[in-house]
Amino acid sequence: MEVMEKYKEILRQYWGYESFRNAQEKVIESVAQKKDTLALMPTGGGKSICFQVPAMAEEGICLVVSPLIALMKDQVETLRAKGIGALAVHSAMDHRSIGITLDNAIYGNYKFLYVSPERLSTSLFKSKVAQMKISYLVVDEAHCISQWGYDFRPAYLQIREVREIIGKKVPVVALTATATKEVADDIMDKLEFSSPNVIATDFSRKNIAYIARECEDKLGTLLAVCTSYKEKLGEGSGIVYCRERKRCSEIASFLKASGISADFYHAGLGKEERSRRQEEWKKGKTDIIVSTNAFGMGIDKADVRMVVHVDMPDSIEAYFQEAGRAGRDGRPSWAVLLWNSTDAKKLRQLVSVNYPPIEYMAQVYQYVFNYLKIAYGDGLFSTRKFNLAEFAREYRLNAVSAYYAIKYLEQEEYWELTDEIDNPSRIMFTVGRDELYSIQLENSVMDEFVKSLMRTYTGLFSQMVRIDEEYIARITMDTVENVKAKLQTLSKRKIIKYIPQIRTPMMIFKCERLKENNLYISPKRYEQRKEQMKKRVEAMIGYASQKDKCRSRYMIEYFSQPVESDCGVCDVCLANKNKSSNQLTDRQIEENIKNLIKQSRNGRASFFDIKKLASPQYQDRYVEVLRDMADRGVVAVGDDGIRIS
Ligand code: ADP
Ligand code: MG
Repeated sequence: MEVMEKYKEILRQYWGYESFRNAQEKVIESVAQKKDTLALMPTGGGKSICFQVPAMAEEGICLVVSPLIALMKDQVETLRAKGIGALAVHSAMDHRSIGITLDNAIYGNYKFLYVSPERLSTSLFKSKVAQMKISYLVVDEAHCISQWGYDFRPAYLQIREVREIIGKKVPVVALTATATKEVADDIMDKLEFSSPNVIATDFSRKNIAYIARECEDKLGTLLAVCTSYKEKLGEGSGIVYCRERKRCSEIASFLKASGISADFYHAGLGKEERSRRQEEWKKGKTDIIVSTNAFGMGIDKADVRMVVHVDMPDSIEAYFQEAGRAGRDGRPSWAVLLWNSTDAKKLRQLVSVNYPPIEYMAQVYQYVFNYLKIAYGDGLFSTRKFNLAEFAREYRLNAVSAYYAIKYLEQEEYWELTDEIDNPSRIMFTVGRDELYSIQLENSVMDEFVKSLMRTYTGLFSQMVRIDEEYIARITMDTVENVKAKLQTLSKRKIIKYIPQIRTPMMIFKCERLKENNLYISPKRYEQRKEQMKKRVEAMIGYASQKDKCRSRYMIEYFSQPVESDCGVCDVCLANKNKSSNQLTDRQIEENIKNLIKQSRNGRASFFDIKKLASPQYQDRYVEVLRDMADRGVVAVGDDGIRIS
């Protein structure tokens, strides 16, 4: 296809990548033909590029619906950094800037407009979207539209109306990492696909040997795996996933103490510390990184020889994605899951923790507004700092339960709690220009600093202006700390108003505060979501505990994909192979038994002699074969022992 060449050029030019991944290519071909397309790829599989590249080649703007404001911001910034015009409309913005943004989407030269679902139903959006020339309608995290999914978001149903407005000629591209057949069908139905069209990654990873080991001594087993993988698989690195941050450092120390090159990584470390550790691991200076699931997003290290989980992930989706970081280079690799009954118990408990009682959530709902001093009917589309620990303390709530209540209400689109949002620092002069000149700044350094500010930014006398301390530090050849200190000094002397950057969790309200009677949390939806989570958890436990089905097959079937054949390398397949190769030695066992009897002093052997002949794991089979020999009359069993007939 000619157009593929054009796409590859775009990929090279803007992303700097040489080629599409296999699944990407299939999805992109379908998208290029303007077919409604549902792409099913694991997280980190590279879904964004599947619509971003084709949209770059089209006229008009690509409309992207995405559930979380934090993710949306991230994507828009990534595109902008590549010099691509991208816009976002979400509830953390005021009405006026939303209007301006939508006008830009109509008249400006932009390629992408990201919208959060609760914005779709506003009349402002509806009237503006009708005027846009839209290349594709993209639905990211498309499982959110299905009530059969675990993350159903009612606001996603609004997408149907948007489709009505912009017309069915605009192809829809739906993307998800989570879709059973039921959910996939539902997505295509809800989005009114002109014909069903699911394109999925090839879920079979032939070079990965999946292994699940039930063990009490996880550290001991982990150590054994870590010390043997290079010998068995060759040079390369490893990832050990663990649920808790604290345990990451403990396990890393334990491995180091045993002479293994290891380090740890989690989101609680500073940004620089994180990238340093990641780099050292990437370069192969550290062999093994022990991490929470914060590690791995967007890293593509080819020679990861093994991924070990010391805790059970809460879904097959998560496990498949994390284990899938092994063996990108196609060479033999291990994906090992260490588990025991405690893991299974904890996971089952997690379901009730994730879904606190409805009455409790209704209570937390009101507490949040009380805490932030927002009255009934207020708060719509506003953003507030939110300190969960303090909130929980003030209302005597268990912080974990409160967190999950808040997260549940997030799915119901009442609000969104983001981990951290960057709000840039802002300054403004509180004195007039003339006044500023008449003020004696205490020294020339300060004087020079103020002049630099005025040279760098405009409008400082009339409004709050966004500034970047790092940038100021660069141009004034100073440290960031000094710049901040100087800004503080100016602020104390009432020369400027200075609002430093905040990186704090923020609560973004998508709905006004409702009274007790008006707050409705659908019990049906609640039960459905909870049921879905139970199913996911049970599927995960099932994966680990079952011993009959090829592990790769188990996962592929979970994703409702066709399975070519058993993998032949997982622990289940290997055990089956052993069993069948043992059948060949039945004759050998028979020979062994005969020999033993012949060699016995009086040509008679006792049952126990024969049993002793076998190593423990074969004892049952020896007994079986012996019984069979007796049945066939090869041996005779008498009171004085067993002899050849
Ligand atoms: P998903 O949405 O499926 O979770 P993303 O679209 O966020 O995944 O992509 C995950 C990472 O993979 C990103 O860092 C992206 O730049 C990278 N990536 C995507 N496609 C390619 C490619 N063809 N070659 C190399 N890296 C890629
Ligand atoms: Mg994505």
